[in-house]
Amino acid sequence: MPASILLIEDNEQNRYLATFLLKSRGYSVTEAVDGPKGIELAIRGGFDLVLLDIQLPGMDGYTVATVLREKPETKEIPIVAVTSYAMVGDREKALASGCSGYIEKPINPDTFISQIERFLPAGGRNTQ
Ligand code: MN
Repeated sequence: MPASILLIEDNEQNRYLATFLLKSRGYSVTEAVDGPKGIELAIRGGFDLVLLDIQLPGMDGYTVATVLREKPETKEIPIVAVTSYAMVGDREKALASGCSGYIEKPINPDTFISQIERFLPAGGRNTQ
């Protein structure tokens, strides 16, 4: 079974690119455009990894990560933050709020998948 990834990202272009790359690799992708919706979906379950934009309108990614870490249903799930390169301190804050790791925006299509797979069980190799 392909790994299932929950993508929480408000920007349509970023969402499109990440989903395209993940689906091309055989992953199942579910999209959420804001934090509350992402949390709702994550609690419902079935995801192997959460890819979390930090700069979200309303509830930011740090808060989303904190909430996911507090809930028994989601406290173990790997969370990869997507942080903007320019924002000094974003990475440290992301890790402090419970993210497993981070990747920097803009997404690099050549390295994106390998960056994500480091955080998937079995390295994400069990696709198909
Ligand atoms: Mn954003």
